[in-house]
Amino acid sequence: MPVSLKIEDFMQRSSWIRKMFEEGARLKKAHGAQNVFDFSLGNPNVAPTDKMKESIVKAAQDTTPGIHGYMPNAGFADVRSAVAQRIREDEGVEIDENSVVMTVGAGGALNVCLKTILNPGDEVIVPKPFFVEYVFYADNHGGKAVLVPTREDFSLDLRSIEQAINSKTAAVLINSPNNPTGKVYSEQEILGLGELLERKSKELGRTIVLISDEPYRGITYDGVKVPSILRTYANSIVATSFSKDLSLPGERLGYVAVSPNMDNAQSTMDGLVLCNRILGFVNAPALIQRAVKNVLREKVDISIYKRRRDRLYEALSGFGYECVKPEGAFYLFPKAPIEDDVKFVARLQEKLILTVPGTGFGGPGYFRIAYCVSDETIEGSLKGFQEAMNEVRA
Ligand code: PLP
Repeated sequence: MPVSLKIEDFMQRSSWIRKMFEEGARLKKAHGAQNVFDFSLGNPNVAPTDKMKESIVKAAQDTTPGIHGYMPNAGFADVRSAVAQRIREDEGVEIDENSVVMTVGAGGALNVCLKTILNPGDEVIVPKPFFVEYVFYADNHGGKAVLVPTREDFSLDLRSIEQAINSKTAAVLINSPNNPTGKVYSEQEILGLGELLERKSKELGRTIVLISDEPYRGITYDGVKVPSILRTYANSIVATSFSKDLSLPGERLGYVAVSPNMDNAQSTMDGLVLCNRILGFVNAPALIQRAVKNVLREKVDISIYKRRRDRLYEALSGFGYECVKPEGAFYLFPKAPIEDDVKFVARLQEKLILTVPGTGFGGPGYFRIAYCVSDETIEGSLKGFQEAMNEVRA
């Protein structure tokens, strides 16, 4: 079947993680899975809690007639209401179910948002390094991702965001805690961003929406809190999921929450609900909505990820790697000790360590380690990380 030139090009540009996946399969076959240290995928490996699993079983056993039928496209009202209550309690934002749409993961949430707000040729500003799918998501809906640098410590560079804003700017899309850096944007950064977007929206006579992609909100360390964008900026939307903090990425559940103070809040919601219907997935899966509703206060044991972050961060720093200490998510984004991150990742591969070059995330000169892996994988990899560093220094 013919593949369009655009998709041919996208396949080429998105190939880093796939390449690592294929390389991983080859190495595991040749050397045995236990001898390959695979840090290439952000697939949570801490098990869902017992309560979560019990809730799924209970939801599956419910025989109420009609329970497997179509539902309102925004999702079940009682589930949206429970989600809104959690946001009210956690973020101190006056929000109810009329501002929440249940979606097919965070990926579905982002696509629904972008489809709702983008006109052809509109731009979406994205600080880099970034989650690569954003470029494709913007393109899906006739938009264009405009990548802007962050600072040395991966905090927001408001000046470069300001310089990128023009009359075509429909949105700024941030991700905190960040994949691939683990950075959490501070209250001050978010306040500054909100002020900037308010000023520029007035100046340009168009609403610039702030979209915050937050699937890692529940995974932070050392008491770090993720500031509420809904409380900070009127024209903000949160797109998120239960994929990471409940370890449910395969169940495909997330939501969009719209600031109740958004300009034209009702038509924005109507647009989101329509897009949740016409993108092809029609609504978020029913069973997992019912299951998650009863365990919204659950999350997986974050102390496991913290232990792994600490172990890797300290060991790699000891070997001479430079790395901003992650405040959340489950990624480390160290500087490659040689300029060419792709070459360094290949050297790690010779030690049977699989990571992803920063180039794949718009962060050349770095590489990503997804530490959602077993303690054994971490311990087994340390010798190889040390040898690779020693070899390039020799
Ligand atoms: N956003 C970021 C930053 C991610 O890292 C991911 C998944 O890894 C997603 C969105 C997609 O999440 P979901 O699986 O809930 O669609």
